[in-house]
Amino acid sequence: PVDRSPEIQEARLLLPILAEEQVVMEAVTHNRVVVISGETGSGKTTQVPQFLYEAGYASGDGIIGVTEPRRVAAVSMSQRVAKEMNLSDRVVSYQIRYEGNTTENTKIKFMTDGVLLKEIQRDFLLTKYKVIIIDEAHERSVYTDILIGLLSRIVPLRAKRGRPLKLIIMSATLRVEDFTANESLFPARPPVIEVGTRQFAVTVHFNKRTPLDDYAGEAFRKICKIHRMLPPGGILVFLTGQAEVHSLCRRLRRSFPHRPGHSGKGTVSGEGRKSQTWIDLANYSSVPLEEEEAEDREAGSDGDGEAGSEADLDLGDGDGAEAGECLTPGVSPVFRPAPGGTRLCVVATNVAETSLTIPGIKYVVDCGKSKRRFYDQLTGVSTFRVTWISQASANQRAGRAGRTEPGHCYRLYSSAVFADFEEFSPAEITRRPVDDLVLQMKDLNIEKSLVSAEELLISLGALVEPLQTGRYKELERAKLSCPISPLGRAMASFPVAPRYAKMLALSRQHDCMQYAITLVSALTVRELFEEFNRPAVNEEETQKLKGKRARVAQMQRIWAGQGVSLKLGDLMVVLGAVGACEFAGCTLHFCTQNGLRYKAMLEIRRLRAQLTNATNAIYPEAGLFVDPKMKPPLESQVTMLRQMVLAGLGDQVARRLPPGEVLEDKWRNAYKTPLLDDPVFIHPSSVLFKQLPEFVVYQEIVETSKMYMKGLTEIEAE
Ligand code: ADP
Ligand code: MG
Repeated sequence: PVDRSPEIQEARLLLPILAEEQVVMEAVTHNRVVVISGETGSGKTTQVPQFLYEAGYASGDGIIGVTEPRRVAAVSMSQRVAKEMNLSDRVVSYQIRYEGNTTENTKIKFMTDGVLLKEIQRDFLLTKYKVIIIDEAHERSVYTDILIGLLSRIVPLRAKRGRPLKLIIMSATLRVEDFTANESLFPARPPVIEVGTRQFAVTVHFNKRTPLDDYAGEAFRKICKIHRMLPPGGILVFLTGQAEVHSLCRRLRRSFPHRPGHSGKGTVSGEGRKSQTWIDLANYSSVPLEEEEAEDREAGSDGDGEAGSEADLDLGDGDGAEAGECLTPGVSPVFRPAPGGTRLCVVATNVAETSLTIPGIKYVVDCGKSKRRFYDQLTGVSTFRVTWISQASANQRAGRAGRTEPGHCYRLYSSAVFADFEEFSPAEITRRPVDDLVLQMKDLNIEKSLVSAEELLISLGALVEPLQTGRYKELERAKLSCPISPLGRAMASFPVAPRYAKMLALSRQHDCMQYAITLVSALTVRELFEEFNRPAVNEEETQKLKGKRARVAQMQRIWAGQGVSLKLGDLMVVLGAVGACEFAGCTLHFCTQNGLRYKAMLEIRRLRAQLTNATNAIYPEAGLFVDPKMKPPLESQVTMLRQMVLAGLGDQVARRLPPGEVLEDKWRNAYKTPLLDDPVFIHPSSVLFKQLPEFVVYQEIVETSKMYMKGLTEIEAE
């Protein structure tokens, strides 16, 4: 029996899924696999585990497992469910990578899908579970797809052993057929329970014309119009990137300054209002708009578009499994009601499409685009592209306007453009590197024909290349069944990408594990520094931004060190920055002073702790700890670290074209890589930008105006 508080009880009754409890439980009783689909906020994540618990699925010798594509969700949902059920976090727990609070008393366990994949490696039949819930399956993250594939095999095996495992797949009301109609997954079509939502009618308004570029400006004008002319109700605006979101919010705040307790036009009251009335987290911001019409000082002004398009790359704009991970775990965003006399306006990226519940939204403004990371499997070049969304996503966005009453969706594009949208967005597996997955698959003894990723693993020494016999085709086929090597096994046990796993595995021999762990943590988080290249609104701000950029450059030079250290390049800067920041206690003040992204530094701190634990678990004799006073590496260690980087990223080497060989102007200061025909360049943010060493290893190539290498280390030619 669960002892819920009266308030919780009351709130639960309002959730659409409560009406379906019996239908859900009957379906689960009579089927091995059940699909539940329902809009965000209908109560799937928080309630279905409770139904199962109350029906006895966690009594005796089995527990309930729930997977989430995001770490934040795993943590916050476990806390929410524990609270609703009035149970301790020893019973309703979470596990993310190597961090968690599970105990032997845990009955409901929330985890990331990567964690469950690891558990399958250890125990293919997942014997400790009676039910597995795969949540947010519509996101089609790579791990989710693979888990569903594996579970479709595990479920019948468990049935044969007489200890059935139930599988519940939960998704927003998108692309449910992907799972149900796939006969190689489920020969018998699983039942789908559709959770009704109190969805009110949403009137969709298309623009007559589609703006070429300035959709942010168009959004601004639309918001002003809605605010001036339409009845009360929150506005939710979809843009594509973090810089855009912040820029539009600044513009709105300037045009509609909120003056608590003050009506009529006057000066803007500054301090105090921020913390109280708007929230500013990783991927969205919200502003209260004064109900009384304020002076629109900016109407018609332009130039708020996205200059410096790299400013907001990969801040979790809905791409990849770790999207939104900048949020501090355990802090799930809770939107406070807008203060009296104001209108809530939330400006967001893709995250608000399905994974956030925001109360009181009546108007949606949709730019029709999203920023996605594309990864070229052959050349390894990443590009971030702002592309049209799918029709399914556009409809999902529109639906957000009708949760509490009938609403309106303003699409900043024409109906003809909409008709050309793809029906659904492509699954993530077509958009990200898969070498890590091949390694996991190998560790699981599951074959997969992902040849280029396998070649990478062979070149890393993780797989043993077969003797070259027979014709080419046979060689290719032989490669697909390369056995995993001891180094490969060690690599598979680290919860990071294989390149980084190799660095960690190697660093053990050279007494520089703590540096390797720090580097890998920081490289996983990426972008440590603020980029102050947003467009300035006036001369004063131009100067301010210039000062900040100079400060960042100065600190980078200091952290890069001299002599041998300098050769470690951007990775030395990373070590220096993390070291200095930890020495100062990893405070917001220190980060602001030195142009570091506070959220990134907190994330690095967390990863360092996790990786240190993971490494100690693998090599108990290492006796590692996270040293807040980590000293810079010695010269000999710097040399080791450079060798390690080369060992992990040996295929990401570039050579500067000797000036004598430059025939075309486009090759001046350019580098040549083995795979690309076109020139690549050192990114201006690199400390090696002016050095132009002959050989470098890079972390990634990002294509913007040119192809730029980032995260450079100098190496010597053999
Ligand atoms: P779904 O999984 O269908 O999107 P959820 O189970 O996540 O729905 O959410 C159901 C309801 O519970 C929502 O109205 C949401 O606002 C509320 N809720 C979820 N987490 C919290 C929390 N930490 N605090 C308060 N309310 C929450
Ligand atoms: Mg959910």
